[in-house]
Amino acid sequence: MSKLYFIPGSQDLYGEECLKQVAADCAEMVGFFNEKMGDTVTFELLPTVETSEICVQDMRRVMDDDDCVGVITWMHTFSPAKMWIKGLQLLRKPLLHLHTQANEKLPYSEIDMDFMNLNQAAHGDREYGYILARLNIAHEVVAGYYQNEDVVARIRRFAQVAKAVAHSHNIRVSTFGNNMRDVAVTDGNRLECEIKYGWEIKYWGIGEIDTLAENATEAEIGGKMAEYAEKYTMATDRTDAVREQARYEVAFDKFIAANKCTAFTDNFQDLYGMKQLPGLAVQNLMAKGIGFGPEGDYKIAAFSAVLMKMAEGRKGATGFIEDYTYDLTEGHELELASHMLEVPASFAASKPEIQVNPLGIGGKADPARLVFDGVTGDGIQCTLVDMGDHFRIICADIELVKQPEPMPKLPVARIMYRHKPNFRIGTEAWCYAGGAHHSVVSTALTRADIAMFARLTGTELIAIGDDTTEADLQKFFMKN
Ligand code: MN
Repeated sequence: MSKLYFIPGSQDLYGEECLKQVAADCAEMVGFFNEKMGDTVTFELLPTVETSEICVQDMRRVMDDDDCVGVITWMHTFSPAKMWIKGLQLLRKPLLHLHTQANEKLPYSEIDMDFMNLNQAAHGDREYGYILARLNIAHEVVAGYYQNEDVVARIRRFAQVAKAVAHSHNIRVSTFGNNMRDVAVTDGNRLECEIKYGWEIKYWGIGEIDTLAENATEAEIGGKMAEYAEKYTMATDRTDAVREQARYEVAFDKFIAANKCTAFTDNFQDLYGMKQLPGLAVQNLMAKGIGFGPEGDYKIAAFSAVLMKMAEGRKGATGFIEDYTYDLTEGHELELASHMLEVPASFAASKPEIQVNPLGIGGKADPARLVFDGVTGDGIQCTLVDMGDHFRIICADIELVKQPEPMPKLPVARIMYRHKPNFRIGTEAWCYAGGAHHSVVSTALTRADIAMFARLTGTELIAIGDDTTEADLQKFFMKN
């Protein structure tokens, strides 16, 4: 279970009694958070920082504990912030500065100097805020009485984003082949990806999968076929083509387990001995949280795995998608998003069909794939691009909609959405911002989640939504 450490701040000038009360109040606070958010993360209290040495010991414990995904700090009393410097310099995990009090209301008729000395977050948290800013440490500030619903919701969001950041540092992408010839946006600085986000991007030949697929046993293939039969409707009698995808998924499963991968890419230009482009196999794997990028797009493979982790435990669907084609009927513009095959099964609005159809590109055998219409509701479309000297996240609010008419001849899964604030500003902003044609769409995450991830990882964020105006396009996007 992931854990957040709670570290209060004080000092030894106030005496034993005061420090005992600080520890007791913090224990109560941690108990409250465990009760409210124990399903997402556990909270554990560390010794109150009274000296620089205690701060260093606390932060060492944070860094040495693999289950710990982040830290919450709060200054119950005044805590001279110089004693936080050396400890904070050791901290390389997400940090939340909680600006709160043990008491909700001021006891006007009772308040004396002792009360004010004990409960002075307004004083101590500002001193501490200064040193965080001075040290330029990425962090999140949450202000309000700690039992407020809004405060609890924001701490829960921090826990989910912190888990995603921890997952990010454990991501290993196996790229089968390189990225697609001539395509710009799937390329970039792999080394910087590992330095900044912890993504290990490692090359293997697709022959690794081909050989594992060749050697899949009847029992292994039968197991996958049974899983497909249970989850999907078999809308084809070409069983051999479906079994081929089952072989691929058995192969990917084995490879992923053996090499501790959390995401992978392939490239339809480099399939060597494979009979089909992996379709159904990849769609089924993505729905299990495995990141995937087509055409060698290692960034979207890793980023989709990070966002799927962030969405864990929430309602809604999250996964890879590609922008494809528009309905440009004025005032009713819609986008149809899909891919050659690889649309995550988690986007299905109803039970997907397994179909076998020609691919029309790549010169391989007709691949089996899942075909379905997509989920609806408010969502985001989000991508991460390499700008040469920094990474940029672009996050657009969208509304996923039901397809207005059936598309019986379209042989791939799809989703449809409406851009915000409207088609023109939404898509012009995306183009100005340098948004990729590969992205992650989610009906579980919001812009606030992505903004927190961007803040905690020090990544530039361009957000597009109902608050994006014509003036924004003029002032900002045209500078890029
Ligand atoms: Mn693509």
